[in-house]
Amino acid sequence: MATNVQRTSSASPAPEKHKEAIQFIEKMTRNTDKVQANVLAEILSRNADTEYLRLYNLNGATDRETFKSKIPIVTYDDLQPIIQRIADGDRSPILSAHPISEFLTSSGTSAGERKLMPTIHEDLDRRQLLYSLLMPVMNLYMPGLDKGKALYFLFVKSETQTPGGLLARPVLTSYYKSDHFKTRPFDPYNVYTSPNEAILCPDSFQSMYAQMLCGLYDRKEVLRIGAIFASSLLRAIRFLQLNWKELCHDIRTGTLNETVSDPDIRQCMSQILRPNSDLANVIESECSKKNWERIIVRIWPNVKYLEVIVTGTMAQYIPTLDYYSGGLPKVCTMYASSECYFGINLNPLCKPSEVSYTIMPNMAYFEFIPHNPHSVSTDNVVDLANVEIGKEYELVITTHAGLYRYCVGDILRVTGFHNSAPQFHFVRRKDVLLSIESDKTDESELQSAIENASKLLKKFNTSVVEYSSYADTETIPGHYVIFWELLVKDPMNYPREEVMEQCCLAMEESLNAVYRQGRVECNSIGPLEIRVVKSGTFEELMDYAISRGASINQYKVPRCVSFTPVMELLNTRVVASYFSPSLPFWSPERRR
Ligand code: AMP
Repeated sequence: MATNVQRTSSASPAPEKHKEAIQFIEKMTRNTDKVQANVLAEILSRNADTEYLRLYNLNGATDRETFKSKIPIVTYDDLQPIIQRIADGDRSPILSAHPISEFLTSSGTSAGERKLMPTIHEDLDRRQLLYSLLMPVMNLYMPGLDKGKALYFLFVKSETQTPGGLLARPVLTSYYKSDHFKTRPFDPYNVYTSPNEAILCPDSFQSMYAQMLCGLYDRKEVLRIGAIFASSLLRAIRFLQLNWKELCHDIRTGTLNETVSDPDIRQCMSQILRPNSDLANVIESECSKKNWERIIVRIWPNVKYLEVIVTGTMAQYIPTLDYYSGGLPKVCTMYASSECYFGINLNPLCKPSEVSYTIMPNMAYFEFIPHNPHSVSTDNVVDLANVEIGKEYELVITTHAGLYRYCVGDILRVTGFHNSAPQFHFVRRKDVLLSIESDKTDESELQSAIENASKLLKKFNTSVVEYSSYADTETIPGHYVIFWELLVKDPMNYPREEVMEQCCLAMEESLNAVYRQGRVECNSIGPLEIRVVKSGTFEELMDYAISRGASINQYKVPRCVSFTPVMELLNTRVVASYFSPSLPFWSPERRR
């Protein structure tokens, strides 16, 4: 860590809390293996009497060797029946001795539905602890952030109850609704422009409207702008593009647009809104220009960086973020999931392609399966302290809430060490083909969506002979593009436009709940598009791959394309394109 970074003269000295946080990071990362052994022993001793650990005859053992020899490595599907029992109301200590306080709904899916991750009350403290390390690290590299505010676009999503009465909601919704967040003490390094009332409003339009309005009022004080994912920040920019006239009207008159009807937002905005025609003029003059390049720094002139995740699939948004921000640094602070918060970026100002996350050894017990794309073997699983630089691994976790040797599905590459704690580059999520925001669509889901949609073509004696896809992030929101090569046996009976549009919708109906929620509730994904390509296109694609060295015997049609020449080849063969004409079905209730 750059503890030797020069401070600017205007920066205040790091507060005591920051020093303690940095010392904590040092202590944990210097003792990686010892901390890991302790974490495992703590998890196993407190959960010794759970049904799960008894089933595997752990007999109270808390050491790594016994644990590894007796407890199997599992996936969500292995645990699903147990999780269903808890969801249905079984309160006995099945996985964890501490009661499951709620379920966190992961963006990963199982049988088309969100995965339910058990959590216990004290996990909130663990997440809070990781959050509390972020600004002390940032302050080492960019002092002075206590002199202004953060414009973060933060949202809650809908929550449901399981049949047994436990809440099921995304981890961030759980956090924003907790007292840890709502009644957080004042911290000059974490002053948000968005009031809690705006963040907690379940209507995403009203929430965004109020958050944007507050951000505009504080335009000069804003030092950093962020959202969880890069895609969410771009949606905020798109929102400004669509609504700047209304926002300027509100600033000019000191009133709040009638479409924002949430009483809590109205009440709190009445304290903030005041007529300010100078401010309205500046924003109007910037937003009315045709060219929106560098709009972020034009509107928020003091912003120093963007705080968004641009690692993993979010890397696809970097060029657009650079366009709107004039290339501001993009800071990825942490690596986390519903199952567990893993670690932080100790070098936050590095380039996105160089981001590595240091897994904090106190967060859970971590193991690593050496990753081999050609064979699945759980032999040679290694501990956190024993991974090797340059190698790729699949992450396996054991958590306080009772996930034991659980495969997260992330592939990580070791880039180095901070003290004895390894640092990881996020390589990719296993098996994900398409992703716009938190949605993750794998090959089999895409395949069955194509099969369902192509049933509509039977009447027309037409079939889909080949397909591929890509996530088009040039539109905001981004959308799935599916290339179809059709075999039309009876050209006189070619499927009409409406039929092809219904195929788009049928595909969307077949995709998983996270995708459909993104389409319906969050508006974070645009209508799916089918591009029909000329017959023979996929043969050309194969010829191209072979010309670049692929073996004819082993050639497989790529079900997702990202390589520019291949996309160009497909796009130049498109004969027609169709969009989904309406929204697919989605309800917060689980289908099962
Ligand atoms: P969820 O369980 O829905 O919160 O999704 C967690 C997953 O999001 C992780 O397992 C990763 O695949 C991905 N993810 C989380 N943080 C990052 C990050 N900083 N960079 C890349 N991918 C991430």
